[in-house]
Order: sequence, then structure tokens, then C-alpha cells
Amino acid sequence: MILEALSVFPEMFEPVMSTSILGRARRAGLFEFSAYNLRDWTHDRHRTVDDEPYGGGQGMLMKVEPIYEAVESIAATGPKPHVVFFTPCGAPFDQTCAERLATYDRLLFVCGRYEGMDERAYTLADECISIGDYVLTGGELPAMVVMDAVVRLIPGALGDEQSNKDESFATGDDGGLLEYEQYTRPAEFRGMGVPEILLSGDHAKVDAWRRENALDRTCRWRPDLIADARLSESERARAAELLERYHGSSDKAYG
Ligand code: SAM
Repeated sequence: MILEALSVFPEMFEPVMSTSILGRARRAGLFEFSAYNLRDWTHDRHRTVDDEPYGGGQGMLMKVEPIYEAVESIAATGPKPHVVFFTPCGAPFDQTCAERLATYDRLLFVCGRYEGMDERAYTLADECISIGDYVLTGGELPAMVVMDAVVRLIPGALGDEQSNKDESFATGDDGGLLEYEQYTRPAEFRGMGVPEILLSGDHAKVDAWRRENALDRTCRWRPDLIADARLSESERARAAELLERYHGSSDKAYG
């Protein structure tokens, strides 16, 4: 997989893309990464990438010409990339989106700055993504958030493929719940113990406890996930009880 980012601060990426799981996967050749400086596609002495908005208003906007030239020239260097722009006005990013992006051979992430971009730049986007309902100063952190989520899904990146399957929001057959509680040594810490069943060595019972715990936590903290979670009939009945207990009704899950 080829991951690329276009930014006015390309130096922001290297520390993240060369550390921990991302760094190991990259060194193992599971993906390639390049960050490009948008200013390399400007033609004036000051390497200008922004200008005042027509109609007035606060702040500066990214100019359309360097973005167009950059995306076209980067795209021409190999197979056509899937082009993703970052904006708070984009589609909310989630695990399903990460799994879909992980199927592309080449992804080019275009990061905004200032007050955003001249609207005509977005005509280059195959999709626009928001990482949440808040405003950041630039698209670099969103791009790294998305690349981290995508790289974890490349076979071999985590070492233990089971890790993705059990994760919160996993989209497999029994997915869609938050992950169950986990504990490690010591078994007792400042009066706080560990659920007995986890110390029992009975794997079937541990699995059943984890599933019930995941259902309980999801009903309690993220009832909005329950409607789309992959649950058996008995789990759905149990979810109704838990929703009633934590929220007084199933409204938070089913509207
Ligand atoms: N004026 C824009 C608005 O109100 O929608 C916000 C621009 S923001 C200050 C500058 C850049 O940061 C955006 O162009 C985008 O690339 C990035 N950005 C900020 N918040 C983001 C978010 N929640 N998701 C994705 N990108 C974001």
C-alpha cells in the first residue's frame, strides 16, 4: 500500500509514521509513505499557498492552483490514488471507513490549513473526511489518525491478527460493541481486584464473560452503537434490559 500526504507542514508526519506499529510496518515494507510540501507547487518568490476570501471575512483560504497542480503531479507518478481531503464538513470517520480505505492500493491525503480551502479544490477529492465535530488547526493530525487506523488493518501490521477482531467497533460477524474490560498483573492493587472468572483458566467461561461485559459496557457508555451491533436474539433481549437499567428506556439505542 502507498500512503501519501500533501501539506504545508510535511515535517509533522515523520515522527508518527516511523514510530511503534506504524514504523515497524513501514520498515517491514507493508506500506510506503511520502509527505509532500504544497509550497513546492507554487510559482512566486514567497511560495504563497493562501489568499484572502472573496466577500471578506476572517482569515485566509488555501489557493486552488497549487493544490490542483500538486495532486495532479503526485497522481501522475504511479497508479491513480484514491484522493481524500480533510475538512470538518466531511463524512464522519469510523472503523467501517478505515476498513474501506484499507482496500485501496494508493491513498493520497490532502491536508487543509488556515480557514480551509477554495471550494474548487474539493473537486479533486474522491471523498472528504471529518474526524469529529470539532475544529483543528490543520488536516495533518486527521491524516495521521486515519493512516494509523488504516495501517493497523494491513495484514501482518499488528503481528496478532486477532487483535483487530476483538477491538472496539470491529465490523466482523459478532462486532459492533465496545471492547470488554481487561486486566493484567497484579491480581490485587490497592484493594482493587480482578473479576474471578478471568483467573479461572476456563476459556469458554472467560469468552462468555467478555461478551456479556462488552454488551454491558456498550449499553452503558455507547447505547447509540447497539442498534447496528451484530447481536444474537438473546443478546438483543439482554441489551434491552441493560438499556432500561442504565438509561430508563431503549430510546438512546433505537431513537
Ligand atoms: N473553516 C473551516 C470550517 O469551519 O469548517 C475549518 C478550517 S480548519 C481551521 C483548517 C483545516 O483543518 C481544514 O481545512 C481541515 O483540513 C482541517 N480540519 C480541522 N478540523 C478537522 C476535522 N474535525 N476533521 C478533519 N479535518 C479537520
